[in-house]
Amino acid sequence: MGEFLPYARQTITEDDIQAVVDVLRSDWLTTGPAVEAFEHAIAGYTGSTHAVAVSSGTAALHAMMNAIGIGPGDEVIVPAMTFVATANAVVYCGGTPVFADVDADTLLIDVESVAACITPRTRAIIAVDYAGQPCDYDALAALAAAHGIRLLSDGCHALGGTYRGRQVGTLAELTAFSFHPVKHVTTAEGGMVTTSDEALAQRMREFRNHGIAKDHWQRENTGTWEYQMRTLGFNYRLNDLQCALGVSQLRSLPRWLERRRRLASVYDAALADAPHVVPLARASSREHAYHLYVVQFGDEGGTARAEAFARLRAAEIRANVHYLPVHLHPFYRETFGTQPGTCPNAERAYDRILSLPMYPSMRDEDVARVTDVLLQRG
Ligand SMILES: *Cc1c(COP(=O)(O)O)cnc(C)c1O
Repeated sequence: MGEFLPYARQTITEDDIQAVVDVLRSDWLTTGPAVEAFEHAIAGYTGSTHAVAVSSGTAALHAMMNAIGIGPGDEVIVPAMTFVATANAVVYCGGTPVFADVDADTLLIDVESVAACITPRTRAIIAVDYAGQPCDYDALAALAAAHGIRLLSDGCHALGGTYRGRQVGTLAELTAFSFHPVKHVTTAEGGMVTTSDEALAQRMREFRNHGIAKDHWQRENTGTWEYQMRTLGFNYRLNDLQCALGVSQLRSLPRWLERRRRLASVYDAALADAPHVVPLARASSREHAYHLYVVQFGDEGGTARAEAFARLRAAEIRANVHYLPVHLHPFYRETFGTQPGTCPNAERAYDRILSLPMYPSMRDEDVARVTDVLLQRG
């Protein structure tokens, strides 16, 4: 026994608390100066031209789908191994998600499987940087270009990751981020889309504010009461309390990423001689952001994994399984007729994977505690 170890948790500094308190004492609680400050900070960090803050990672994905005009009859390719929100965003716009399989060792979207999913109706691919490791963006971009379709990114696991020296957030036409407490930086709930396309950014700014071209802050600054709703949008705004927290959190990100990478190397070393518990493979030319530290158990029909999960739980250590492949959820089976057997690598991984605790305030000794319990047999 020992103190409780969750699989993920936020880190909140005294500076973060002060930043939120300062907003509470100011004139603007929502859509004030902190929103732009957070957008500039994320754009600066990722090296992207534009960043559009929204109320969640899910809203970010929805805004992306709306911005590229996804509608009925359109197909968007997503990996089977992701959080449901990636596919749901396609459905919100009336489109059809088509599930590509993943590589068995990295669980990243498999480029050949994507190629096999392309039809005349395909409009876009959403790559997901599973666990924090960037996908093979050059191969995906070449495939997308050859078929005249768009390459987008769900980077919700990968803020701070790089591919061939380029930051996640600049690797696709649009990239979605989440600031849920389990992610790298948090605003409680929150999201962002980065892009180099001014017109797409403007469309997403309208979409998050009912489809109204000018927000309250812009009207205040330009001294006008006039506004027009051009398109149908939502209230997907991120508020000033959240954005001030985000700006403050982002200052800690380099340190926290270093910590996540250090914890991963401690896990790697402890598991190096355990052939039945294998960390996900690392692909070359990438810096992993380690949202998750995922291991795969040997092929034992899920028994070894279930036993390890129970042992960890009894020791006050929470592991988790990310994810049930999206096409196996009842909603997708009932609505789109998706079937088991279509994404064999993702389906097989679902019986074998476990996400071990990983968060910046975890200590090296905590990793040893996890691996000691994990490697006990029977
Ligand atoms: C967290 C996450 C989302 C959704 O983010 P929310 O902020 O919780 O809406 C989408 N996709 C992936 C891969 C995620 O991990």
